Amino acid sequence: MQPILQAKDLRFCYDSGAPALDGVSLDVYAGERIAVLGPNGAGKSTFFLCLNGVLAPESGQILLDGKPVDRKARKKLCERVGIVFQNADDQIIASTVAAEVSFGPMNLRLPRDEVARRVDHALDYMELQPFRARPPHDLSGGEKKRVSIADILAMQSEILLFDEPAASLDPTGEERLERVLARLSDEGRTLLISTHDMDFAFRWATRAVVFCAGRVLADGTPQAVLADADVLRRAHLRRPLLMEVWDTLRARDLVPPDAACPRSPDALARLLDEK
Ligand code: ADP
Repeated sequence: MQPILQAKDLRFCYDSGAPALDGVSLDVYAGERIAVLGPNGAGKSTFFLCLNGVLAPESGQILLDGKPVDRKARKKLCERVGIVFQNADDQIIASTVAAEVSFGPMNLRLPRDEVARRVDHALDYMELQPFRARPPHDLSGGEKKRVSIADILAMQSEILLFDEPAASLDPTGEERLERVLARLSDEGRTLLISTHDMDFAFRWATRAVVFCAGRVLADGTPQAVLADADVLRRAHLRRPLLMEVWDTLRARDLVPPDAACPRSPDALARLLDEK
């Protein structure tokens, strides 16, 4: 199968010195749900900004559907790869929510009725219709995050990058975000999410990629990567809580010895009921 998006040996340095990306390669396949993990400063945000064309890597290549994206074609990248910034204030620019969400499709020079249709769809999707005439900067952190997600939904990008999307959300906001992510995945979008929430990564992702010091330290299923004590130690990551509980149950012979650790509390409850 052809990857939808590929990064090959990306290198990037900010003015301040040490490389933020020091040879990052990754193949992304359509429909994947990838958790991008790693300590602060590991290069996750820089990687996302290169994938979306906001930053141009100093060397290395990005390919879409197997075709290299050169500097001139970077606009194509931001059409097909949408990014939700960690800080919504870095993304939001317009004076009303509706104007904000229409900004991207208008830049694509789409007909007016298509722009209006996309804005309505994105506002419905993120339950933002009651806010459409409000100035985005007066909204709460969680509401602004919803506006920044509506922004990229209106672009209809197939690949969506979320940079620590839950960072400023309360538990209700986190639940809403997870529902939106599940729906986007069910609709076939390809999702990459950087997060420090190991429990979320374990239950949600189909693949876990760990960054450390500008490189990819590990790449595989969440079950394998998050069980690797050496990777967790080197990247200063915590094991998912469910894995700890699973070990405790297994040590007491309370779960089938050959079963894999379930990915959610519900799946664990079902397994215990069956035993
Ligand atoms: P992460 O998202 O994993 O926290 P970043 O990509 O933000 O990592 O940062 C990678 C490295 O690049 C860090 O050393 C960070 O200090 C540096 N860096 C990030 N943004 C900038 C910037 N705008 N100017 C200078 N250095 C930066």
